[in-house]
Amino acid sequence: MHPPRPRRPVITWRPCADQTGPRVLGINPWVYDFAAYNLWSRPAGLLACLDMFARSGARTALLDTMDRTWLDQPWPVTRDNGTGPYPRTCLPNPGILGGVPRRFSRYGLPRETVAQTLARLQPPPDLILITSNMTYWYPGVISLVQLLRRTYPGIPLCLGGIYATLCPDHAGSLDVDLVVSGPLENADNWEAVWNLLGTGAPPLPEDSGLRLDTSNYQEQGFSVVLGSRGCPFRCGYCAGHKLYSGFRQADPEKVFKHIQEEYMRGIRNFAFYDDALLFRAESMIVPLLEKIISMDLKLRLHTPNALHVRYLNFELCLLLKRAGLHTVRLGFETSQFDCRPDSKLRRVEWEEGVRNLLRAGFDPRGIAAYVLFGLPGQKVRELRQSIKDVLSWGISPELTYYSPIPGTSLFEQARRSAWLPLDDPLAHNNSIWPCVHGGFSWKERQRWIRMTSKQ
Ligand code: SF4
Repeated sequence: MHPPRPRRPVITWRPCADQTGPRVLGINPWVYDFAAYNLWSRPAGLLACLDMFARSGARTALLDTMDRTWLDQPWPVTRDNGTGPYPRTCLPNPGILGGVPRRFSRYGLPRETVAQTLARLQPPPDLILITSNMTYWYPGVISLVQLLRRTYPGIPLCLGGIYATLCPDHAGSLDVDLVVSGPLENADNWEAVWNLLGTGAPPLPEDSGLRLDTSNYQEQGFSVVLGSRGCPFRCGYCAGHKLYSGFRQADPEKVFKHIQEEYMRGIRNFAFYDDALLFRAESMIVPLLEKIISMDLKLRLHTPNALHVRYLNFELCLLLKRAGLHTVRLGFETSQFDCRPDSKLRRVEWEEGVRNLLRAGFDPRGIAAYVLFGLPGQKVRELRQSIKDVLSWGISPELTYYSPIPGTSLFEQARRSAWLPLDDPLAHNNSIWPCVHGGFSWKERQRWIRMTSKQ
């Protein structure tokens, strides 16, 4: 039996005890890029913001252009772990990317469907929150803002998220009423957003920023979990500290409750969005895993953000295994342990951590380690060595293509190596290999893919 087909694409306001509260619509814009694949992707920051508004008396709605949203919306087949491709519409390469030998696309829901859905939302919103992700995806934000201005003239638009935080001047040139830099739970940001509604800000709800409102998603393929915010490290290529400067952990009981509620909806795949999931393990991840095990939930856990290998002691590896960790991603980056652009891993920690995973029963064929590709000044032989080192453990090297990010300590060096001016965030796109001499090449890409494949 097929589910009933809605006749028209609509989204609705979530019921709220206070029907007089403001209506806040959150939107996740399209991805405009050369490539995109759904690896348990959700706009976590926006979901945390909607949770904060909902618990402050607002009525909320979500339009995620990167989610199928309606059961009858045509969508490429997803895998049973919840991942899969997005539908795409080919577009001409924008601006400075004109000469890149790759095909540019808009990924996500058809633009016309989004336009119709917005036009049908009744009653209209009082405030629209737009999130943003990669700096070089700003064309998707611009396209959405243009659509919103036509559909809802006079309704305040507030832009937040990663692009807005890392490129506030660039984002400030867009036709929005407010650019929020940093987390909404910062008192100034919270105040400024409520000012757009013409009212004073209510007190911030408890655990603001640590709870995700995932209830708007119909798909049961996967859900996301957040056990902490922030990261104690300062890797030269990462902007984590610009996005969130401290480190906070959620109450593991509350994280478990979120998982349990999603489990009751039929969801079995859960992706952790933490940057430092294993840091201070005793106060969050250990009790959470113990609870999952004791309640005998049959889950498949995924860690796309990579685990810190230095914290992988044997007991923790056992717990991860028994709780159902399925997708194991490790932050390796490079085997140049003596001169790496971060201090998060020593060789002895790497070896010990991988050994513990294997002893705990993880199949090396199911483990992948991220290897950084395209760092400014990176030598080919160093990269080759890193790949070899990872392969020697029987695990897969997964190349992560470097993107120069404003505000990181490597950014100025990247500016000197880049083959396009980095003032335009389009040039931060890691698909063009911004700091590799000669830029992206299909032939080189094939060569690296062959090298990372297991023999
Ligand atoms: S450990 Fe990961 S999240 Fe933390 S700063 Fe380094 S790359 Fe960023």
